Amino acid sequence: LVVVENVNKYFGDLHVLKDINLTVNRGEVVVIIGPSGGGKSTLCRSINRLEPIDSGRILVDGKELPKEGKELARLRADVGMVFQSFNLFAHKTILENVTLGPVKVRKVPKEEAEKHAMELLDRVGIASQAQKYPAQLSGGQQQRAAIARSLAMRPKVMLFDEPTSALDPEMVNEVLDVMTELAREGMTMIVVTHEMGFARRAAQKVVFMADGQIVEENTPDEFFTNARTDRAKDFLSKIL
Ligand code: ATP
Ligand code: MG
Repeated sequence: LVVVENVNKYFGDLHVLKDINLTVNRGEVVVIIGPSGGGKSTLCRSINRLEPIDSGRILVDGKELPKEGKELARLRADVGMVFQSFNLFAHKTILENVTLGPVKVRKVPKEEAEKHAMELLDRVGIASQAQKYPAQLSGGQQQRAAIARSLAMRPKVMLFDEPTSALDPEMVNEVLDVMTELAREGMTMIVVTHEMGFARRAAQKVVFMADGQIVEENTPDEFFTNARTDRAKDFLSKIL
């Protein structure tokens, strides 16, 4: 469903993505882990074309995303993205946050968008918060609202970039539970996280990224118990 082919990216002289190749199949959950500055966020942003690449190709459902224009907005909607900071619109209610994209980009009638939004808010456990503003919600609730907002666009794949790292510890699990449930339902997901429990529980594949390269790709079990490279072993010894 997502194919990253020989992708290179530079920030000035800094080579941040070095010939990256990655395939994510439909229904697969891939966890990307690795040291800070390794290029994980840049890779996620490239998949969504929030960040231009210098060479290579990225296909989502067989199509390369165009550089700009209407077609980009439409294809970008196929890729849902959830960030560390929830970036909900502060002056809109949770319900409005969730319906905005479908109404504006997908041209879904408002009533239908609201019905779908309420189903999604129910699914992530915050239907009772629909009329509130983001600031009135806890961090975990805001992140679940952000997930509902992404899902409202009916994406083909969901990207999560450290979705729980800005949360207080007691809120981490409520967000991971929603993500685990999504994975169980067959959503294709690319997740940057250091939450090993989630990786073991939900991922088919762990990708270890360092210095702009994919150093190791393995099943979670193999990776956590039997990493092949010293680089990965060293990283794991620091976080486990
Ligand atoms: P972290 O775990 O800290 O989130 P990461 O693996 O997500 O790290 P990236 O954010 O992708 O790493 O950054 C990769 C490299 O690119 C880093 O050296 C970073 O400083 C650099 N970088 C990221 N964004 C920019 C930018 N907009 N301009 C210049 N350099 C950037
Ligand atoms: Mg990052």
